[in-house]
Amino acid sequence: MLVQSLIERKRDGATLSADNWRALVTAYVREEIPDYQMSALLMAVVWRGLSPGELAALTGTMLESGSRLDFGRWEVPRVDKHSTGGVGDKVSLVLAPLVASCGVAVPMMSGRGLGHTGGTVDKLESIPGFRTDMGLAAVRAQVERIGLAMFAQGDEIAPADRKLYALRDVTGTVASVPLIAASIMSKKLAEGLDGLLLDVKAGSGAFMTEPAQALELARTMVGIGDAHGCRTTAFITAMDRPLGRAIGNALEVEEALLALEGKGPDDLQLLVRAFAVEMMILSGSTTDRSVALRAIDGAIQSGRALERFGQLIEAQGGDPRIIEDPGLLPQAAAVELFEAPEAGTVASVDPRPLGLAVIEMGGGRRVLGGPIDHSVGFVVSARPGAKVVRGEPVASVFARDAEGIAVGLAALKQAIRFGPVAEQLPLISHRVTATGTELLAGA
Ligand code: URA
Repeated sequence: MLVQSLIERKRDGATLSADNWRALVTAYVREEIPDYQMSALLMAVVWRGLSPGELAALTGTMLESGSRLDFGRWEVPRVDKHSTGGVGDKVSLVLAPLVASCGVAVPMMSGRGLGHTGGTVDKLESIPGFRTDMGLAAVRAQVERIGLAMFAQGDEIAPADRKLYALRDVTGTVASVPLIAASIMSKKLAEGLDGLLLDVKAGSGAFMTEPAQALELARTMVGIGDAHGCRTTAFITAMDRPLGRAIGNALEVEEALLALEGKGPDDLQLLVRAFAVEMMILSGSTTDRSVALRAIDGAIQSGRALERFGQLIEAQGGDPRIIEDPGLLPQAAAVELFEAPEAGTVASVDPRPLGLAVIEMGGGRRVLGGPIDHSVGFVVSARPGAKVVRGEPVASVFARDAEGIAVGLAALKQAIRFGPVAEQLPLISHRVTATGTELLAGA
């Protein structure tokens, strides 16, 4: 295999064979192909895309590069959910224990913050003592015991993706529908699932800002899931405003606790219910949406969902007392209100400056593996369309010090716009399955 001629062929728009892709990825993982050649190839893919056959070969090779979670003959249905990332997206923290408490097992592998978006692993690690670095044997044992594990990608699952993703991150080659789809699906398909729910976000706070791009990504991932025999549904959801009110690791855990009691913000509660119903259907445990909804509402109202979250925390070394006393979560040293500078209507709340500010305030990473301050972030009570009077508190900044407060206030000033209400994306606009795309709301 002459790597440079394969790069040239891809650059010029040719389709590489499945054997070519298998050989390239395998050799790269074995360090027989240097980063500079792989980066050139990835950049060619960013520009030229991948044919369906190339995508299947790339995803398959990445999947086969590592181990899979193998549940043997264990018969409880298993479903996971993956979000493409957003600001204030704490859905997984609520959804995983909720669905597990309804009898569907959830082996959930999650990521850390990426770019301006937060990550479930970082949020969970704001719980004192909580560990996410679990081997697959421990994941399996825990899922069989309590129906749930929430863990970080270790060395065992899709090592080819780990290596390729790290390279893409620093070579401007993340933003490619086939590369994102192969990366996400190679990891998810290794979890031994019966079903997978994908939350593909669109809007300024998402990686795919345009709904059309989000739809393309959703269809691509659903196609991969289907080809591997994993029932897969994707929803396109709004990320042109933050989800819920809290942004920042510990603050989001606190809001998730409220949602597990049914007392979270409306948008969060709505998304969680819709996703939970879909996961029950994907699991095959019921075909009737109203039955699924009754089970879900029952789990919230009875306290079973919250109790399952407590079991998860305990199983993974965390302090379950945070459930009774969220004050045990990391607390910011400085808190300041942000007041409406004028009377009027909140036109829009742009999530991106807020996500970026959390990183600048110390709540996200500047370098790979760097430490983070879990206490910092925002609570934004202003929603687009809300009428406010001058001087009314519309948000709070939680920071380490006065410098962080200044960064936070500046970000809120940039993010919260006043004036005529800007058009909003529907909270859930599309449902994509192997049989087609359903328009749920919007044009
Ligand atoms: N998340 C992933 O896991 N992979 C990507 O390529 C992008 C987002």
